[in-house]
Amino acid sequence: MTDLLSLNTCFVCGEPILYKNTPETSVCSVCGMEFNCEGSCANGHSVCKECYNNQAINIIKTTCLNSNSKNPYDIAIAIMKNPAVRMHDVKHHILVGASLLAAYNNSGGSVDLFSCLEEMEKRGKQVPPGACGYLGSCGAAVSCGAFYSIISKSTPYSEEEWGLVNTLTGICLIEIGKFGGPRCCKRDSFIALNAAIDFVSSNLDIQMEKTDKLICDFSERNKECIKEKCPYYNKEW
Ligand SMILES: [Zn+2]
Ligand SMILES: [Zn+2]
Repeated sequence: MTDLLSLNTCFVCGEPILYKNTPETSVCSVCGMEFNCEGSCANGHSVCKECYNNQAINIIKTTCLNSNSKNPYDIAIAIMKNPAVRMHDVKHHILVGASLLAAYNNSGGSVDLFSCLEEMEKRGKQVPPGACGYLGSCGAAVSCGAFYSIISKSTPYSEEEWGLVNTLTGICLIEIGKFGGPRCCKRDSFIALNAAIDFVSSNLDIQMEKTDKLICDFSERNKECIKEKCPYYNKEW
């Protein structure tokens, strides 16, 4: 399975993507470049991977910069709902920390959000796809570590901050690990956000808001959803 298969709506028009049995050369509806296309929508849009990636990063940044929310879940979910962000997507390695940066800023943390988001993009991009299963370091957890590193200006030579950054990533990983796999970028992001909100509250005395009973809207898009075993699964379905 290619990762494009987990993407199911066209970001140009929102129509469902119809996948081809064999990929064909096609012209990207956004940049006009030829690429190996795996699927297009009923309106004939096909979008290359690079344009999806650029679009997703723009969505992350503009959503964060325009949000007044103190709740990182609300910000993250608004980003996740955009069709440019796939169900399972390395962009979660950026969007988790970015949502925290925006909510932290809106909760009185006051940072230079624009430059922090640039930094978050740079660091999040360094976390490879599948880091959860291949490296034992889920990118959502690492994204929380990067967030805390950015706000506390931690470097490899820091003392107290160095300890806190690694501790936060560790807490996120422990919580994520408790549920077992297969991976779910939504579940893992929600768990990591929860841990980061609490960690910031106890270490920096900044209280971001939390969604009490979060119900996931993404289960139907996730072939590997662990359903009842997931704390966010909608049991009414
Ligand atoms: Zn379309
Ligand atoms: Zn393109």
